[in-house]
Amino acid sequence: MNKIEVDSTRSVNRDRLLRLLRIHGQMARIDLARLVGLSPATVSAIAAELLQNGLVREVEGDDEGEGAAGNRGRGRPKVMIDLVANTACIIAVKLSINEIQVALGDFSGGVSETETLPIDTRSISAAELVRVMGDTIADFQTRHTAGHGPCLGIGVAVQGLVRGAETLVWSPALVARDVNIVRPLVARFQLPVVMMNDANSIASAVRNRARYQSVDNLAVVMLGAGVGMGLVLGGHLYDGSTGAAAEFGHTKFQIDGPLCMCGKRGCVESYVSDYALHRDARTMFGLPAVNVQHPSEEEMRAICDLADGGDERARTLFEQAGRVLGYGIGNLIALVSPDLVLVTGPGVRAYRHLEGGMRQGLGDAMVETLLTHTHIESLPWEEDFAFRGVVGQVLDRVPAP
Ligand SMILES: [Zn+2]
Repeated sequence: MNKIEVDSTRSVNRDRLLRLLRIHGQMARIDLARLVGLSPATVSAIAAELLQNGLVREVEGDDEGEGAAGNRGRGRPKVMIDLVANTACIIAVKLSINEIQVALGDFSGGVSETETLPIDTRSISAAELVRVMGDTIADFQTRHTAGHGPCLGIGVAVQGLVRGAETLVWSPALVARDVNIVRPLVARFQLPVVMMNDANSIASAVRNRARYQSVDNLAVVMLGAGVGMGLVLGGHLYDGSTGAAAEFGHTKFQIDGPLCMCGKRGCVESYVSDYALHRDARTMFGLPAVNVQHPSEEEMRAICDLADGGDERARTLFEQAGRVLGYGIGNLIALVSPDLVLVTGPGVRAYRHLEGGMRQGLGDAMVETLLTHTHIESLPWEEDFAFRGVVGQVLDRVPAP
């Protein structure tokens, strides 16, 4: 190997090590070496360089075990390597119907300081929206990045169809079509900008959890304001030739079914999304129509509370929506046979009420033997993984400081 090849191999190994620390958290050098498949000496040499550059630090881990005499605490403490989270930062942005959210990503891939700017996204021009987005980022950067190292880039998660990682072809959040969001942000901030569909971003964040690292064929179905999906096939995010693959929410359940936000009828989303559930609940319970396209979390929780309290009509509402979801997942399994379908998103709040109908729908839609290889489970929506996903994408693409 010549010097360039040696340097390049070292830099690849260094990035792999940083990535593993992001996925698994602090680790002893020896465990890191085992996981990455390098010799302990190589890992120690890379760790020394990372320590010197301030990208990692040494922390004391748990005792290696009981001492020779069997007394607890006599074992030698393990020295662990951990990422220095504030050594750099990333600005994460999320664009959805009627809001722009901004959050601070750190070098360990963590996310904090989320802020929401309510804005009528469908009534302003695309140029105005990009300007507001830029102003929001600049303002957030001024207030939240002190105490952090350099900003490595901006990650943008958007509701809708993204082409070429920079053009928002179609989004329910915007009236305009084919909006280039990335170029104006790059010009303004002089930073790398990564943009992706929010469901893909969530799938990428989920796959980067230690628990799902070995699941090569994974479908992450996101329930909430819409119904989205991120698809990992053969270990890689799959979005098809146009970026429009995995539009699970807009696969059809019924000809001439209810109107979907996409303008067509009978999509899975038009039965299972928050706006669909709230539409049916309004009819059922005579609820007021507040924001029919984007009911609030409180409004959705109220319907869920009714089902929790044993209200049969509310339970039937979720069961029927669950059945449509089950048919949709059945079609998905028939097409790509994933190892795991994870149902998540804010809409998972009602998973316990959806699940029965979903399993029934699956059973109705699919031959049983075809279902046995795919596991289906829910993932609690503890935080908006879309931020974590775009932060991870920026960290994967931009060299460490
Ligand atoms: Zn649709």
